[in-house]
Amino acid sequence: MTQVLGGFAALNLHPNILAAVIATGYEEPSAIQLQSIPVILEGHDMIGQAQTGTGKTAAFALPILSRIDPTKRQPQALILAPTRELALQVATAFETYAKQMPGLNVIAVYGGAPMGPQLKAIRNGAQVVVATPGRLVDHLRRDEKVLSTIQHLVLDEADEMLKLGFMDDLEVIFKAMPETRQTVLFSATLPHSIRAIAEKHLRDPKHVRIETKTQTVTAIEQAHLLVHADQKHAAVLRLLEVEEFDALIAFVRTKQATLDLAAVLEARGYKAAALNGDIAQNQRERVIESLKDGRLDIVVATDVAARGLDVPRITHVMNVDMPYDPESYVHRIGRTGRAGRTGRALLLVTPRERRMLQVIERVTGQKVTEVRLPDGQQVLDARIKKLTSSLAPLVADAEASHGELLDRLTAQIGCTPRALAAALLRKATNGQALTLAEVEREQPLVPTSSPRERSERSERSDRGDSRERRAPVPLAEGRARCRTALGARDGIAAKNLLGAILNEGGLIREAIGRIQVRESFSLVELPEDGLEGLLSKLKDTRVGGKPLKLRRYRED
Ligand code: AMP
Repeated sequence: MTQVLGGFAALNLHPNILAAVIATGYEEPSAIQLQSIPVILEGHDMIGQAQTGTGKTAAFALPILSRIDPTKRQPQALILAPTRELALQVATAFETYAKQMPGLNVIAVYGGAPMGPQLKAIRNGAQVVVATPGRLVDHLRRDEKVLSTIQHLVLDEADEMLKLGFMDDLEVIFKAMPETRQTVLFSATLPHSIRAIAEKHLRDPKHVRIETKTQTVTAIEQAHLLVHADQKHAAVLRLLEVEEFDALIAFVRTKQATLDLAAVLEARGYKAAALNGDIAQNQRERVIESLKDGRLDIVVATDVAARGLDVPRITHVMNVDMPYDPESYVHRIGRTGRAGRTGRALLLVTPRERRMLQVIERVTGQKVTEVRLPDGQQVLDARIKKLTSSLAPLVADAEASHGELLDRLTAQIGCTPRALAAALLRKATNGQALTLAEVEREQPLVPTSSPRERSERSERSDRGDSRERRAPVPLAEGRARCRTALGARDGIAAKNLLGAILNEGGLIREAIGRIQVRESFSLVELPEDGLEGLLSKLKDTRVGGKPLKLRRYRED
């Protein structure tokens, strides 16, 4: 959609930076980006009031990268961040946006890692230095010239830096840089201490903040769930089990995320599709028509692609990725609660985004209540409820039509009606987990502690190997489980495996069962019948450029 690309394309970014942004899958600039990028590109000092989740990192990274000369091998931009985690995150963002800028290097400088290699990288001419103030001051003590070529300084999360007691360090750092530099300050709040810094160290700064008009949201029940970024798909799957929705729209931030989540949902048997700015208008209309008439129940969309979407069947909006600002939150959730009906809006919040949640609550004047991830028992109860309501209407006249057949079959098989009914249930539920133990084995990602407690733990410990070792889901009859050594760390999503196996194996979609992508491997359910032939057909298949090498997987 060229008109949409116009959003970033109209901002005068360096063509290589623009190309990297497009490759990242961003469809349009967020409000803070739209306002900050021109100001920073023009070389002004700036005070930006924005918190995590608004897209603030790109708001300063894109214009600063556009102004850096990669042929000059000397530090040109310094980004100060309060914590090592944020410094690493910002450095990674810079690397992503600078991917198509040959010769541009980024170095993250923080405590806890040896100083020697950091100083060497700075001296070797990394053009972007992302640092925590304390460690940077240690470097300045060793070499006071280390910042003498800096032309752009960003103080990211300035209020947090002051809270952590970095005021004195900041003063030392300011002094070590040329006065002619550009200074940009981002802060979620602007207390007196921040204003004082701005007054002393910024020259005629422009102020940028996202207007947060009070918005009214009626007839929509709002809830949020705290979850780590790498558990979002698992959380969505659990929520979908217990939420009674008719049609649902899930919002994510990038095109790739629409495709990934839609593939996960499809693999779970939901009628789901992706909607993003790359999808041609006629296909987009088809998706919306299908959502209207029930051929689809879930659409995974970016904000841009969902613009103007009006489908009265939508009972739920799920904000899988945080919106950039309260206005777009209100916009998104307005997709439900149409025509006087009540709707439900769910918001997944990662620990770092809690402040954004508070802003949303303030702006909408409504509490977004916290919900817990449904536990195994709730999932099981929901499944049994669905099964009950699908079977109940069939019972009334079944005896009249099939009673005789039942008698005949039980006599021929020599079993009780209960045994036969159980066998039929097994067939009808097609391997679905319907005992607590099975459900818990199938979905072991659920935290036992409260989400708030969990969020205190480090991101890394959440990725523990338990995920790799979790027990496999029971197999449906006639299916064999196969394994490939390709997994999420190879950039593989379920849809990639599905596509490759369908195309090269010559199978129909229904022949392939559940696809589970784990960090370092994936499991795919394939028809037992003819498996050896199929595996040999797939023996040279590559996915994402790597050999698939699918093998039968023995569980013991
Ligand atoms: P930040 O507020 O800088 O912490 O950014 C939050 C998240 O939004 C990051 O994961 C970014 O990759 C993502 N992001 C930033 N700008 C955009 C954009 N224009 N479109 C889509 N995603 C974005």
